[in-house]
Amino acid sequence: MARTRFSANRRRPGRRSAPQTPAPAGESAKEIAARLRSSASVGKSAQDYRRKSLDIHGWFCAKCGRDFDENNLHILTVHHRDGDHKNNPPDGSNWENLCVDCHEDEHSRDMLGRYLSDDQ
Ligand SMILES: [Zn+2]
Ligand SMILES: [Zn+2]
Repeated sequence: MARTRFSANRRRPGRRSAPQTPAPAGESAKEIAARLRSSASVGKSAQDYRRKSLDIHGWFCAKCGRDFDENNLHILTVHHRDGDHKNNPPDGSNWENLCVDCHEDEHSRDMLGRYLSDDQ
């Protein structure tokens, strides 16, 4: 007398979660832009001048004219005209609001990398 096997029981629930791999050495401009995007909501002082710039210049991209609202405002970034993002005059004269695409365009890949690393 053979036993009945329930093949349905062979399926195991749950899946293994792959270990998180650190970011690869080479970053594409898109990845940098993504980092820029997320850092906009992290750094407190960065957010502070960003908000001021948005207040002064409005919620639109100075280059392509794209409009933004609360839903997509996070992809509107603040560009520093002179490339020095520690230079933040309160009148906003060194700021330009650019969407991530135009911001990417504005900087060469190397320059954007330098723009993002101001620790030195
Ligand atoms: Zn734009
Ligand atoms: Zn910039």
